[in-house]
Amino acid sequence: MPRNPFRCLFCLSSAGQFTRREHPIPESLGNDDTFLPPGFVCDPCNQYFGSKLEQRVLNLAPFGPERVFQAVKTKRGKYSSVSHDGWVAQSSGFWDHVYLQSDPPHRYLLPLPDGRILVNPKWATPNDLVRLLLKIGLGLLALADSVNVYSGGFDAARGAPATAGSPANGTLDSRFILTEKIC
Ligand SMILES: [Zn+2]
Repeated sequence: MPRNPFRCLFCLSSAGQFTRREHPIPESLGNDDTFLPPGFVCDPCNQYFGSKLEQRVLNLAPFGPERVFQAVKTKRGKYSSVSHDGWVAQSSGFWDHVYLQSDPPHRYLLPLPDGRILVNPKWATPNDLVRLLLKIGLGLLALADSVNVYSGGFDAARGAPATAGSPANGTLDSRFILTEKIC
């Protein structure tokens, strides 16, 4: 794999600007150290993943509540919170210590007899989850010298998370998921 191919591994374009590093595992999941240098992901795709796909998926279950419970900081260095329909869970900065606010208590929070509270968060859609996981996987593969992530064998994977210029044109329908073997 060339060090700086200046070809986007998601939209396969060489036309856009390549000024940004790409974090295959989002910084909002605590990854500061593992990144691809500029040249692998064009700025429009990088921007799209950060502001649209990642922001949407990482604020919902399963990632959103886990970020709060595990005290993972946001990209801007703040402790994250997650909310849904009237309740807010905010990380205290300590593992498993969470501030929970709800006024009034309602159907998404269930007090258990032992004093704990069961939270029913809002979940990311399966399509969005798959798109983010494919985006993470392709980015991590690009770190490996022995894998050519530009080969056609990865086109279905790159088409799902990308914004444009791809076979799937930025969408992933249920047929794609159903073709995967689950068991
Ligand atoms: Zn691109």
